[in-house]
Amino acid sequence: MRRIVIIGGGAVGSSIAYHLASHPAFRGEITVVERDPTYRIASSSLSASSIRQQFSTPLNIAMSRFGFEFLTTGAERLEVNGDRPALGLRHNGYLFMASDAGLDVLQANHAVQCAEGANVALLSPADITARFPWIDTQGVAAACFGLSREGWFDGPALLAAFRRKARSLGVTYVAKEAVGLSLAGERVTNVRLADGAELACDIAVNAAGPWSARVAGWAGIDLPVRPKKRMVFVVACRTPLPGCPMVIDPSGICMRPEGAFYLCCRSPGADEPDPDEPPLEVDESMFYDLMWPVLAARIPALEELKLASSWAGYYEMNLFDHNGVVGPHPAAPNLIHATGFSGHGIQHSPATGRGVAELIAEGGYTSLDLSPLGCERLVEGRKLVERAIL
Ligand SMILES: Cc1cc2nc3c(=O)[nH]c(=O)nc-3n(C[C@H](O)[C@H](O)[C@H](O)COP(=O)(O)OP(=O)(O)OC[C@H]3O[C@@H](n4cnc5c(N)ncnc54)[C@H](O)[C@@H]3O)c2cc1C
Repeated sequence: MRRIVIIGGGAVGSSIAYHLASHPAFRGEITVVERDPTYRIASSSLSASSIRQQFSTPLNIAMSRFGFEFLTTGAERLEVNGDRPALGLRHNGYLFMASDAGLDVLQANHAVQCAEGANVALLSPADITARFPWIDTQGVAAACFGLSREGWFDGPALLAAFRRKARSLGVTYVAKEAVGLSLAGERVTNVRLADGAELACDIAVNAAGPWSARVAGWAGIDLPVRPKKRMVFVVACRTPLPGCPMVIDPSGICMRPEGAFYLCCRSPGADEPDPDEPPLEVDESMFYDLMWPVLAARIPALEELKLASSWAGYYEMNLFDHNGVVGPHPAAPNLIHATGFSGHGIQHSPATGRGVAELIAEGGYTSLDLSPLGCERLVEGRKLVERAIL
């Protein structure tokens, strides 16, 4: 009987727990240590929960493909006692628009996506106008549009469904904070909790999301993952925008429908301050000064919008190469990390959960090889660059 302790019960930790508990080759006990069962500031609660094929890295495309398939069949997979979760999957594309400056990257990404079997189309400005006449294509050289396997879903519902299903399969959730690891040489033997208790383990998993560098630090590992604040602005617009996909302006500002509203997001530019773990306060001036003018120029109907609400959460940003970090680090081989997804972690939580479960139950990846996301690249200084980061 192997004892697995997962630190962090967000979408990633709970997906790992569910996939491992349902893996036919696994024999053992699984405990998830989650300090906040309300998930008030967990990324999985504060996510925009969108899913796309349009990455530049083949592995990210494949992970999203499995994510989409999982979401499509998730109600059956995650059913408990006849109750099927409503995961709210909407099948809408992403429309990535590029100016002349971004055209080469857009075309290169499109070529990678097509080679990986993604159903994506390059659109000229005239094509954009024909499909989405409410978009002003001024300054747009071309766009790439996802024709299938893209959209958005209910992230908190996915987290709740993973957690509920994992518990039904025998996983124990402990509502306490992990504060340290005990090591024998380079092996983790115990996860230490804030109340002084210790959980013995054969394998520990670091799924602490934005806070995962702290957990890695307990084993002497310097993980380049930091909590970076990202804001979501919810706006109302009276004029309908028929067929509205996730629209990504060449500036990087994006918006998509959410029920009767629209969610709008923007990441700070390279020259703007982006501190580690600032308070999760919303700065509305970002919306009024930097986002609204761009949105209204791109979608004239948004000249008359109303800011209805907003929130902020943390990306678990991998400063090294903006890609997930999945697998053990050579410095502590029985501590598996699953973090660093830099804004695309909830869509990759099904593939990450499945992969880490295989690693633990079978000793290696058997469905999709996640080893390009391994920690070795951090040690060797070998970046796996993802160009399509939002
Ligand atoms: C504004 C915003 C928009 C986003 N949009 C998208 C999107 O459109 N698509 C997408 O795929 N992704 C998106 N993301 C990213 C995505 O939400 C995250 O990558 C994903 O939710 C990470 O899941 P997680 O389980 O690793 O982290 P979390 O959900 O943060 O879970 C980590 C958990 O670990 C717990 N924890 C931490 N330390 C300890 C400890 N010491 N002891 C016990 N528990 C601990 C925390 O309480 C937390 O619940 C977005 C994120 C934000 C903030």
